Amino acid sequence: MRRVVLLEDLKGNMIELSLSGKRALEFDGDQVLDVGQQHHVIAIFVGTLVKLYKGEYTFLSGTSACRWYINENDIAEIKAFQKSLPSEPVPIKKTYLQNDDATHKFEEKSLEQLKHVDPFLDMGQRYQCTATIIGITENQTWCYKACKICNSAIIQKENGYKCTKEGCPSTQFEWKYKIPFIASDHTYNLEFMFFEKKGMELIGKSASTLRKQYEPKEIPPDITSWIGYKFTFVVRVLSKKSVKTIDPSFEVLMIKEKYQKEPIISFISSSGVVPAESSSSTMAEYKELPLLVPITSKDIEKKERSTSQPEHTEETQDMDIEPSGYD
Ligand SMILES: [Zn+2]
Repeated sequence: MRRVVLLEDLKGNMIELSLSGKRALEFDGDQVLDVGQQHHVIAIFVGTLVKLYKGEYTFLSGTSACRWYINENDIAEIKAFQKSLPSEPVPIKKTYLQNDDATHKFEEKSLEQLKHVDPFLDMGQRYQCTATIIGITENQTWCYKACKICNSAIIQKENGYKCTKEGCPSTQFEWKYKIPFIASDHTYNLEFMFFEKKGMELIGKSASTLRKQYEPKEIPPDITSWIGYKFTFVVRVLSKKSVKTIDPSFEVLMIKEKYQKEPIISFISSSGVVPAESSSSTMAEYKELPLLVPITSKDIEKKERSTSQPEHTEETQDMDIEPSGYD
């Protein structure tokens, strides 16, 4: 049993917490999701371990030593965090564990071969390729106004916003990634588009977080710092876009492998993790804040007795656990 919780700090940095064994059962995900639709959910996790997956991907592991405090109104650190949040909370979303795609073997193609992919005949077909990001398509934006209902582009009309998808009534948007990376494998160069989920997986922040600092035409260093890195991707052709261009454009569906940075062009690299600010202020300061909805752990004692499984068998499995992406 395992549960993955995606955490975000005030700077928009994200990390996955992988709870295993008994802790996975105790964490009340349903209540967090429920409360999190209209209220902030602020948590302190203690007793976690920082782990590396494949020497690259950092995540937190929570086994028997892990404890948490969620929305507890008498903890100063929680109230301090609440004070820094906008009053309108962003609803918590359900994340999904990575599916079999990670182990599935796709047809490996060179970019020269991918160039001949037919945007219509080969629509939906998935390919695997290994290439190095060498740049970003010129005069393009790294994000777009995505319809809140269907993800299509939203455009501004005289009387407000309108979704470009025919028949979609939505007038609301949120900023999402659409990063047009150019990659090369020495056989050819092609465009590989990163949309929101993959962009978030690569960058560790949402597009809306980065948008607060950068204009759509101003490519953030968080993005340019990936230039020079080699990856193995699973991709599919972007049919609509590819009919208008000389070479087909591809959507990155999965980042299967990440390799060392190669000497191409070096840009400013993004900063690492920002340390949490410590606060010595008293609780009086937080009086005006609305009360958080406390979330307690689930009582799993009954369940445990019926299955009577020794705890350690589950906990030891944590060592070779794969952290999931959120698809
Ligand atoms: Zn729409």
